[in-house]
Amino acid sequence: MAMTPEQAQRALAALKGKLRGACSVCGTNRWAIVDLASMLPFDPSGAVIIGQSVPVVLVACENCKHLLTFSAVALGVVGPAATTAPPTSPPASPQEPPDGQR
Ligand SMILES: [Zn+2]
Repeated sequence: MAMTPEQAQRALAALKGKLRGACSVCGTNRWAIVDLASMLPFDPSGAVIIGQSVPVVLVACENCKHLLTFSAVALGVVGPAATTAPPTSPPASPQEPPDGQR
């Protein structure tokens, strides 16, 4: 998912002063915002929860490409509505196929 220039600016501003350490893999201290992405949560059985996602900002080490993930909502890059949840109940009256097509 491509970030708008305004979202990229908000991400940079929010991460300024927070992203201070060197990469835990290679020790380099050069980071770049990659893009917005979406994580799919799992239920306790390990199954992907269809219809639910968590927006994240990906930041990569410019040397080894180790990725860090940050909550896009907490950074102010997207609003809380961007975090989607599955419907709480099935549709009230599911569509029935026309007679003779079962
Ligand atoms: Zn690295």
